[in-house]
Amino acid sequence: MNSKHFAIRTYGCQMNVHDSEKVSTLLEDSGLIAAASESEADVLVINTCSIRDKAEHQLYSDLGRLREWKAEKPGRIVGVGGCVAQQVGDKLLSRFSHLDFVFGTHNLRRVPAMLAGALEGNRAAWVAEDKSQARFDLPMRRPQVPTGIRRKAFVTVMEGCDMFCSFCIVPSTRGREISRRASEIEAEVHALVDSGILEITLLGQTVNAYGRHDVRRGNAVAAGTMPFAELLTRLNDIPGLERIRYTSPHPLFFDDDLIRAHQELGGLCPHVHLPVQSGSDRILEAMRRRYTRDHYLGIVEGLRQARPDLALTSDLIVGFPGETDADFEQTLDLVRDAGLIDSFSFKYSPRPGTAAAEMGEEIPAELAQERLMRLQDLQREQTLAYHQSRVGQEALVLIDGASRHGGGQISGRDPHHRVVNLDAGADLGLEPGTIVAARILEATPHSLLGTPLLPAG
Ligand code: SF4
Repeated sequence: MNSKHFAIRTYGCQMNVHDSEKVSTLLEDSGLIAAASESEADVLVINTCSIRDKAEHQLYSDLGRLREWKAEKPGRIVGVGGCVAQQVGDKLLSRFSHLDFVFGTHNLRRVPAMLAGALEGNRAAWVAEDKSQARFDLPMRRPQVPTGIRRKAFVTVMEGCDMFCSFCIVPSTRGREISRRASEIEAEVHALVDSGILEITLLGQTVNAYGRHDVRRGNAVAAGTMPFAELLTRLNDIPGLERIRYTSPHPLFFDDDLIRAHQELGGLCPHVHLPVQSGSDRILEAMRRRYTRDHYLGIVEGLRQARPDLALTSDLIVGFPGETDADFEQTLDLVRDAGLIDSFSFKYSPRPGTAAAEMGEEIPAELAQERLMRLQDLQREQTLAYHQSRVGQEALVLIDGASRHGGGQISGRDPHHRVVNLDAGADLGLEPGTIVAARILEATPHSLLGTPLLPAG
């Protein structure tokens, strides 16, 4: 496979981005080279996502277009992975004769072998669930893997989900919860820090459920896991690791120890992305979220006491089946009461195979759209107000690279996960991966503008 070039097209969440990094590393370890673009690639892998509406159609249209790409150069290979591959499996091979291999969300390790088989003309699909720790046994991302993120790395701590929210397909596509051994997580973080990584984001579908089944059964020691807050404490002790983030926690597992960790652990960033989905108890129950609005707001209050400068962001769904005007108003109230500084909000759309898809009581599309607009208007106001409150303050910015705005600005993130663009940053030769103190000068709805503070003399 030497000298063949590969490209990966990634859809979806950070979990998928990280899975693509793992596939990149596996392919590089097999002697392939990352292509500068898909047109230069011999091997193209599509990593699919099924969270959004019409994901399957998106894949079918991608695959349709790839017939031509494949015909342009003999010997080209196309593989499909991710949640849609997990759901549709080998039917994809029957439907698309130019598709070479299909791998499920637990089968990343098989990609090099499947590719080798495909080069010999053997088409295959592998989507079996792997309930063992072996699925975490993947080569570590090397710093040169092109992620576009410098000095930052994702680290998987758990996979799968046992929550079965009524709107969500993830438990079917990612399987049951499984937590990775803490010793392996620590070893990976040590190695990342040794290679220059300053910031890690711990990943899991319900990341703070880490270890919970082992702790409940009393076999955490044998399983090599522990409560999530304890894991954070262990990682916080690793010298040279500047910042720890995690995503996405579930409110049900947000316990007092985790709140206390935000007060006590210096490396834990003052930003929590805590999906709430709705502000109405009636809708939360229909969503099977297993907490109430008051429970959520109680966590927020605890976090604010622990960390007064906390930046809270969330996920919200509008137009869930049966959502009344009063339910929606409660969502708007919750956005205000929780002081969300940002959120991802979506119109509900049914996912086949989920309980909510069978509920009926659909909300008319125009009404859902109107609610989404109102919610996003409110969020924009709150985001801007938060950004304005930061003007005049100092922030430590971890530089990512050139700003999207050009003009010699460079861009990075502060501990609150806000984008900070720095004027004069490029002139000062600030490299990606440096942490620089800056004074915030201006606020916009999407970012902050700052100026680097240089040491006297
Ligand atoms: S907690 Fe709910 S929304 Fe999140 S992945 Fe699990 S089922 Fe889906």
